[in-house]
Amino acid sequence: VKENDEPERMPPPPAVKGRRKSVAPPELHKGNKRLSCVAKPPDVQTKRGKFGEASRPNQKFYEMIQDFRETLEVIPLSSNSSVEPRRICVCVRKRPLNKQEMNKKEIDVVSVPGQGALLVHEPRQKVDLTKYLDNQAFQFDYSFDESATNDLVYKFTAKPLVQSMFEGGMATCFAYGQTGSGKTHTMGGDFTGKQQNSSKGIYAFAALEVFALLNHRRFSNLDLSVYVSFFEIYNGKVYDLLNKKAKLRVLEDERQQVQVVGLEEVCVSTAEDVVKLIQLGSACRTSGQTSANANSSRSHAVLQVVLRRNDRATTLHGKFSLVDLAGNERGTDVSSNDRNTLVETAEINRSLLALKECIRSLGKNSDHIPFRMSTLTKVLRDSFIGEKSRTCMIAMVSPGMASCEYTMNTLRYADRVKELNCNSASSA
Ligand code: ADP
Ligand code: MG
Repeated sequence: VKENDEPERMPPPPAVKGRRKSVAPPELHKGNKRLSCVAKPPDVQTKRGKFGEASRPNQKFYEMIQDFRETLEVIPLSSNSSVEPRRICVCVRKRPLNKQEMNKKEIDVVSVPGQGALLVHEPRQKVDLTKYLDNQAFQFDYSFDESATNDLVYKFTAKPLVQSMFEGGMATCFAYGQTGSGKTHTMGGDFTGKQQNSSKGIYAFAALEVFALLNHRRFSNLDLSVYVSFFEIYNGKVYDLLNKKAKLRVLEDERQQVQVVGLEEVCVSTAEDVVKLIQLGSACRTSGQTSANANSSRSHAVLQVVLRRNDRATTLHGKFSLVDLAGNERGTDVSSNDRNTLVETAEINRSLLALKECIRSLGKNSDHIPFRMSTLTKVLRDSFIGEKSRTCMIAMVSPGMASCEYTMNTLRYADRVKELNCNSASSA
């Protein structure tokens, strides 16, 4: 059958929109399954889209995905939904298709039915050229669709961690994913035009919460002050974003305490102070970079909010590290012959692998934390130990078909982090 055979018109869509029969959910909750879905015979295929658009490069797949979606029951996450506190929380966020993707008529291959579920409709072709979808279901603690705001994502991810820091805990929140999937948007804030709106990201929301709790009667008697540091880890080296990218040394003392020597720690008294530091640090991070060769995608950025007691030794009370990780796509990019790129790739691979292993240790309450595997895990060492440590990973995915392979890599990584979490819960 030729691709462009004249097909019949599609029957009109069912009258009751939004009321959809559920097919996937029973399977979804059993873990990550592959559901296969073969193309309908050509007589029910249409050449034009349901919205009367001209044919797109992957029209058939587009229609198959649309048909699949008709059968999905969608239960969106609302800001009224309750948040369950977890020691290790793994979430996924799908960004909307962007302008370029729309212009290229890219198809959206990711569906978020809600309740932590996410589906990737991987376009496939059999040897006889029959097109089919390999629908792969994933289950996380929360799943955010393209309509979710940073505000909503914050509520279910970083917000519960701010409280744990006041209770004397070490908390971490990671944004993980391919370059362009929305890590910086989620952590650093909305981009409208060219300007970054730093007051609309998780960094800023967390800062607001910190000052709200600081004055709360439950914690006001602790007599705490708030400090902020912001640094970047590139090729295993630490650069201070609040001090003109000064290169800093990471040292470990005989008690295995890790220190970043000379790191600026600025005492702040309002959330606006924090936003100003985020802007300063972000500008420092991207200065001198061309967009084509931006090393911000190859470095990890770490914003640390630290609570210290107002005693003579300014004793550490709690810490929250918010990490915008390097793009994980480099891990699979082995095509380059450039030595620098290979070194960078190896370093990013090593640190992301180490991170997974350290979160695994935290989940298992293990005494052995393989933190020495990378600079990233070294500087975050105290976040992976102790009863009071909490972590949250937000895996970001791009919706387009062209990103499918990277999306699958991201989801598999996040799935492994979550799996360990489930295992440790059952063995505890
Ligand atoms: P990353 O840091 O993962 O490389 P960015 O955060 O820079 O990706 O996002 C890439 C582009 O997509 C940016 O222009 C950003 O504004 C946009 N974007 C990302 N996530 C969203 C979202 N949830 N809603 C709207 N635009 C988004
Ligand atoms: Mg980024």
